[in-house]
Amino acid sequence: MVICPECGYPYEDEAYTIGERNIQCANCSWSGSSSKLIAAPEAAPVDKLQELFRFLGKDIGPQIGVRLVKLGLLTNSSEPENVAKIARVLQAGARGAFRGLVTALFTEEVNGEPN
Ligand SMILES: [Zn+2]
Repeated sequence: MVICPECGYPYEDEAYTIGERNIQCANCSWSGSSSKLIAAPEAAPVDKLQELFRFLGKDIGPQIGVRLVKLGLLTNSSEPENVAKIARVLQAGARGAFRGLVTALFTEEVNGEPN
């Protein structure tokens, strides 16, 4: 199966991997190219993956935001443009970490060989 890169919601391979096209997740607000979906084995614990994504976004995300400000990589200005930038950066971080973790966890099971 493949899963949503934003929430871990599962989809049948056949429905989303035959040709690249734009899709919208039926479970969350994410939309994008079907090539962004993440491959996972049929037996993947989808509820745990969704919990992992929430953990990365809601628990780890704010800590990363604080660290990015401390490092001077972001500012903590409450100007709307800056707040939007912080949200964009943290969302990208959560997505990247989620994709990396899921890929590392399941690559061997999906492809039948180690990374
Ligand atoms: Zn989704």
